[in-house]
Amino acid sequence: MKNKIKKIIFIFFLSINLQADLIGIPGEIIAIKLNEKINKLHDNDLVINFNGNEYAILPVPYSANDTVIKKGSYSIKVKKKDFGESRITITNPSMVDLSKSDSDRAYKESLLIKKALNTFTTNISPSLNFISPVEGIISSRYGKKRFINDKPRSPHLALDIAASEGTTIIAPSSGRIILVGDFFYSGKYIMLDHGKGLISSYSHMSEILVSIDSIVKKGDILGKVGSTGRVTGPHLHWSVYLNKERINPESLLKRNYLDLLLKASQDSI
Ligand SMILES: [Zn+2]
Repeated sequence: MKNKIKKIIFIFFLSINLQADLIGIPGEIIAIKLNEKINKLHDNDLVINFNGNEYAILPVPYSANDTVIKKGSYSIKVKKKDFGESRITITNPSMVDLSKSDSDRAYKESLLIKKALNTFTTNISPSLNFISPVEGIISSRYGKKRFINDKPRSPHLALDIAASEGTTIIAPSSGRIILVGDFFYSGKYIMLDHGKGLISSYSHMSEILVSIDSIVKKGDILGKVGSTGRVTGPHLHWSVYLNKERINPESLLKRNYLDLLLKASQDSI
């Protein structure tokens, strides 16, 4: 009888382990070393060759709480992280409670962004070692709970870098410009495709100095910091997407980030 209970407990723990093969922090990237058993997780996963091994590079989606996210054949246990909160005041009421025409416009623009995020370019291979797109002061980090005029809003899934109007914004990594717009929320906005599902975007610019389909190299000028769209002051709102998930841009700025990522790779599927 005792043995039977032990066996049940063992199976129970085993099934928990199987339920969450991978562990990650919201907004971070995880690397999985591929082997004969798992040589492909999903058609659109970013796979990197390094020292004769192949690694799948996956985003851990944002979540405010502990959760398990199922992605095709694997699941990720997302561990809750306290990102803190950010409270901003927007005094222009038409920027908070949108008129019908503004809200229609914002919706149409959100569809353009969604469409661009479906771009999956295979002829450019992304680098995961980014440089900062602008010199300035970090004014709001990734993951913060956001309150606008004391009302809770969606979390801030980007990095804000404050700098004076006109400060140069450069490409943190090479890629192709896949969207250029002047949007209600984001102001002067561009989206840069780094290849294989890694995409970055730049909001609130005062000037855009690239055009659609421009190919840019790491360090090339993209435009200038501004305060277009819904802002409280001049800054760059910088988002990075991997497989359509918004990830923490700051992680990509760590020195030798790819090496760190591969060293911490998980292979326990
Ligand atoms: Zn922001």
